[in-house]
Amino acid sequence: MDEENKTKLSFDDLNLKENLLRGIYSYGFENPSKIQHEAVPKIASGKDIIAQAQSGTGKTGAFTIGALQNLKEDEKNTQTLILSPTHELVHQISEVIRELSNYMDVSIMEVVGGTNVYECRKELEKNPQIIIGTPGRVLDMILKKCLFTDKIKTLIFDEADEILSYGFKDSIYQIVQTIPETTQICLFSATIPDEILDLSTKFMNNPQRILIKKEELTLEGITQFYINIKINDWKFDVLKDLYDTINVSQCIIYINSKNKLMEIYTKLTNENFPVSYIHGELSSVERKEVMENFRSGHSRLLLSTDLLSRGIDVQQLSLVINFDLPKSKETYIHRIGRSGRYGRKGVSINLVTDRDMRYMEEIESFYDTKISEMPQNIQDYLSV
Ligand code: ADP
Ligand code: MG
Repeated sequence: MDEENKTKLSFDDLNLKENLLRGIYSYGFENPSKIQHEAVPKIASGKDIIAQAQSGTGKTGAFTIGALQNLKEDEKNTQTLILSPTHELVHQISEVIRELSNYMDVSIMEVVGGTNVYECRKELEKNPQIIIGTPGRVLDMILKKCLFTDKIKTLIFDEADEILSYGFKDSIYQIVQTIPETTQICLFSATIPDEILDLSTKFMNNPQRILIKKEELTLEGITQFYINIKINDWKFDVLKDLYDTINVSQCIIYINSKNKLMEIYTKLTNENFPVSYIHGELSSVERKEVMENFRSGHSRLLLSTDLLSRGIDVQQLSLVINFDLPKSKETYIHRIGRSGRYGRKGVSINLVTDRDMRYMEEIESFYDTKISEMPQNIQDYLSV
């Protein structure tokens, strides 16, 4: 981030449309981040790109500005398709596009599962110019001939490695089959493992890579701690002891399984701790409500499964607690990247047992980073 601040990049240099530029400034962006400065012109040039930059550096801004720059406002057909893994991210992205395109004439639609199919079809009849969606529902709408892909010029994958991984791969493959061969494809993520790079060459056209090295990928500005709890069963009490500390800010507590999450939630609420929770089996409406309460600061402590490990951007969120270490190393960096957005300070606390220590050391060496034992004065790190 330091480097980013030193070199004064400007949105004025990017040859953007006047009405888009105006939207960017009125949204409050003053200067582009590095990834925005590099990716926007490449997207505008129509090339395929694979862009990797650490969490919180403005990848959403990069692809939304690029997509809006490419958009032909007077052509009333679907030109841009953005795919993202969760409803929450789709909604977040569409809010950003709505803001940035405030001075443009653009139609935008969210296409996600769990919503009324009839209404979805009805709205698609208007041929929204930009569609942001989750892969399953988007494919469903394409196959039902409600969503037309023949005029799509730009296809963007946010959290691309997740989008191209096991659960989504088939849908993505089918979606890609339906778009014109000339459609530009853009991949964005903080993490892009080699096998995903390999896979991407199969359907992309000579992609330009914007990649930062893995060593640079650890999260500057996020201080990482652990508490060794010896035995799993004691974690709950340690979490309660942490309460006074974690109450100073907004906090997400990650728990690996839904069942464990519900168990902790029930115990905490029985003891009158004000917590909320989210996981993939809540209804679409419930998920939306939980997120709105959390974003508005109405609720401050959120228990979550990895449903929210990626992409969610809540600026006041300064603390992430891993009640369990995540199963994959990639997930670790995504989870703790929920704090420390856009150069802010953040803290993560990992609750580990003796048996986790080895794995935690592996994570440290994988990211070439340091996770220190949590000190007494943890409050000092949190009160910024
Ligand atoms: P990423 O997807 O890379 O993790 P996001 O796109 O979610 O990051 O952006 C992280 C935060 O940074 C958001 O709150 C966003 O509003 C802010 N941000 C992005 N670009 C800029 C910019 N050019 N100037 C100021 N803030 C920005
Ligand atoms: Mg993101």
